[in-house]
Amino acid sequence: MSSVLAKLLEELTAGRLRVVDLTQPLSPQTPLLPLPPQFNNTPAFRIWELSRYDERGPAWYWNAFETGEHTGTHFDAPVHWISGKDLPDNTVDRIPPKKFVGPACVIDISSEVARNPNYLLTPERIRRWEEQHGRIPASAWVLLRTDWSKREDPKDYINLKENGPHTPGLAQESSAFLAQERDVLGVGVETVGTDAGQAATFDPPFPNHYLMHGSGKFGLAGLSNLDRLPPTGAVVVAAPLKIVGGSGSPLRVIAITP
Ligand code: MN
Repeated sequence: MSSVLAKLLEELTAGRLRVVDLTQPLSPQTPLLPLPPQFNNTPAFRIWELSRYDERGPAWYWNAFETGEHTGTHFDAPVHWISGKDLPDNTVDRIPPKKFVGPACVIDISSEVARNPNYLLTPERIRRWEEQHGRIPASAWVLLRTDWSKREDPKDYINLKENGPHTPGLAQESSAFLAQERDVLGVGVETVGTDAGQAATFDPPFPNHYLMHGSGKFGLAGLSNLDRLPPTGAVVVAAPLKIVGGSGSPLRVIAITP
């Protein structure tokens, strides 16, 4: 075995490296992104029992489920957006698997978001983070810690008002900077989607999706436990289901962290 992998296992066994679950529970209660009613909305997660050690299957328990690709903690592939529709290897089944592992840069904007639920990450805030923690490396996941996943009531989590949802995100200059100047794998957020709640009203609409996916970058939505990660030094493992032609999928996201 390579000495690096042997060392990894030794550190995990000794507890000097920890595995942190960045995933929210997936159930029929999982909150959904509310799109304006003229658009198709995603169905809720649905699960039903096939047998439970009974006449339907005497020795086994199993379920079937159906879900939207973008329900709960999920991965966004470039083909999800019109700007990424013609890129090579843009569906979940075709993304090279080495891109499912990458270093995490965690930008903590929880105090800004506590004051303003519509806070947008600015390029100045990214530069301030880089002055403290170093340049964001290519092929990193940039994870926005907002503490939004601590909102347990789905009403508070979606934060829907008469003019749409109010949740934090990225200014479009930041999405462009991260995709083009830093060549990240993508951005991960604690909210229901990788754009801010009010992003349907931005120009272009949903700019983070437009810019990230147009540059072949990915998204992770509905993350949790980002407060358990250091600003740098953790490694994210995020491998979506191999849905042929899929635009995304629910997944289990983990981080290996000191
Ligand atoms: Mn999505």
